[in-house]
Amino acid sequence: MRVRRRRRGEETERKREDMGIVDEVAALREQTLARIAQAADTAALEQVRIGVLGKAGTLTAHLRSMGQVAKEERAQVGKTVNEVRSAVEEALAARKAALDAAELAAAIDAAAVDVTLPGRAQQMGTRHLINAITDEISEIFLGLGYTVAHGPEVETDYYNFEALNAPADHPSRSLADTFYVVDRSGDAASVRGESDVLLRTQTSGVQVHAMEDRELPIYVIAPGKVYRRDVADPSHLPQFHQIEGLVVDEGITFGDLKGTLDYLCKQVFGEERKTRFRAHYFPFTEPSAEVDVSCGICHGEGCRMCKGTGWLEILGCGMVDPNVLSMSGIDPEKYSGFAFGMGVERIACLKYNVPDLRMLLEGDMRFLRQF
Ligand SMILES: [Zn+2]
Repeated sequence: MRVRRRRRGEETERKREDMGIVDEVAALREQTLARIAQAADTAALEQVRIGVLGKAGTLTAHLRSMGQVAKEERAQVGKTVNEVRSAVEEALAARKAALDAAELAAAIDAAAVDVTLPGRAQQMGTRHLINAITDEISEIFLGLGYTVAHGPEVETDYYNFEALNAPADHPSRSLADTFYVVDRSGDAASVRGESDVLLRTQTSGVQVHAMEDRELPIYVIAPGKVYRRDVADPSHLPQFHQIEGLVVDEGITFGDLKGTLDYLCKQVFGEERKTRFRAHYFPFTEPSAEVDVSCGICHGEGCRMCKGTGWLEILGCGMVDPNVLSMSGIDPEKYSGFAFGMGVERIACLKYNVPDLRMLLEGDMRFLRQF
């Protein structure tokens, strides 16, 4: 009897629990439907679905515990749980359809092209003045039958100085004037056992390579970047561009040199411009000269641009020193030649009256668009 009574008591307890599940599931239904209605996007909705119907979901747990529900209550509880599941699934599907449609509409809006908006103009670049002048001068010499040669910007002391007859104590060879290349250990890089690798200070090395490598006669120009340890100011830059030229042939005279450079100046600056040659000294030419072109502003009268002289210095030149020819294996008894070199930035400034070399490097479009 005691046992039976106890069992009856347990059954009552269990029945109360089973009916508790019905209330709990009903509450879960209200709560879940509210969360479904509030889900702001499909990702949030999916979180709600997993929380209720997923493997570890709250409603799934109730479905799993059906086996423990008393037989006589099982139908009632099972019916309720299944109804809730159907209601939740329906609400999820309806909400998902609504959110999918809204998200698709938003994506279409975001990707839409408004054909009534005005177009954005592309900014067209132009050739930089330095490149334009380099090309212009190259064209002039190509027209005279020259070829364009290029060489390395990292050069050895031999090609930058020695083969050009620069004495070992020449001031331009000092550490103060030349960028020497240092390897990773911090030691000066070396090709011949000395600190002799440098950034070229002139494009003249290309001329030496040309004399060593090319068949005679030689008619070349060598445009390119050069480096010097100068602080940038209105008339100096630590990196600038040069165009050098070299001719080696039989019977070349100083008259050929003068005629070529006079032609160049008239082509670049205008037919009315005059040139003059002033004696000068360069290690690799003998005789040497500096070339002036008549001032384009005052036409020789004297003005601020030409500092009152009527002339503008534009390049250096001379007849190739016989020693330089010999060093490159050319017989100076048979061949002669001339060489010249000019700074492209300087030509640009003189041609367009630019007062400060640094303006060419600043990238100010208002300045650069003028050319
Ligand atoms: Zn002048």
